[in-house]
Amino acid sequence: MASRSASRLARRLAGLLLAAGALLGSAPPASATLRVVASLPDEADLARQIGGDRVEVTTIAEGTQDPHKVPVKPSFVVKLNRADALVVQGLGLEHAFVPALLEAARNPKILAGAPGYIDASLYVTPLDVPTSQSREQGELHPLGNPHFNLDPEQAKLMARAIAEGLARVDPAGAASYQENLARFTAVLERKIQEWQQLAAPLRGVKAVSYHEDMVYLARRYGLVMVGTIEVKPGVPATPAHVEELVETMKREGVRLVIREVAYEAGLADSLAERTGARVVTVSTLAGGLGTAGYVESIQADLEALVAAVQGAPR
Ligand SMILES: [Zn+2]
Repeated sequence: MASRSASRLARRLAGLLLAAGALLGSAPPASATLRVVASLPDEADLARQIGGDRVEVTTIAEGTQDPHKVPVKPSFVVKLNRADALVVQGLGLEHAFVPALLEAARNPKILAGAPGYIDASLYVTPLDVPTSQSREQGELHPLGNPHFNLDPEQAKLMARAIAEGLARVDPAGAASYQENLARFTAVLERKIQEWQQLAAPLRGVKAVSYHEDMVYLARRYGLVMVGTIEVKPGVPATPAHVEELVETMKREGVRLVIREVAYEAGLADSLAERTGARVVTVSTLAGGLGTAGYVESIQADLEALVAAVQGAPR
């Protein structure tokens, strides 16, 4: 009798284990957070704002790095292998590290074209799209200028693409993502109004930058970009190019040399010295100036630019 009931119990236990296994295997429990990897700090902040407590976000690049030159680290292969979603800025900005990491990670859920590959550039209309294959814009911006995150109007579009992407991967969270998108967009709208006021002194001010990454910010706030220290995106300055730039700066009355924090200061300093312009350090990525998130980073950049204009000789 005893042995028969024991074997019945064992069969029941085995059945329970099988059922539990089936449950675990089929779908994650409702409380599981989505594992999101963001290529850059801007995408990470937006994914956190929109994902809320449904997501856990890891960032690959740091705000002080040049997004075109982020080194590929093995630790990120593991993160990407386990990720439910990858958020990129897109337009080829992450060409130096995302394609290689994706290949190594072997995670079909987040490959380009898969639901878990979230491209923040989806709704952005790019500037500086090359009209020919001549590589006129240099090697680094073949799909148009990818530095649209510096225009907060574009950040609204980025946030929308991210909200839709997260909902694709996690349909149960769709309402929550829409709600967070609406809240974040409202914050941005308010800041955009403030920033129009704050940045008013930039209108009509002539500037050069190290890299061709100010085009969207300049369009929004009326800075007039007259050249870059690099010959073309990714092509370092030559002595002849620097001489030509000095002449242009003097002729045009350039007041600002914008040095992005990822680039060395030496050339920017010497250009300013030779032309009477003022150097201002900004970051093209969130967190590059020690700020916490996207909004804070735009705030810091605009404050730095305005302070430099107000301190720069006319
Ligand atoms: Zn670039």
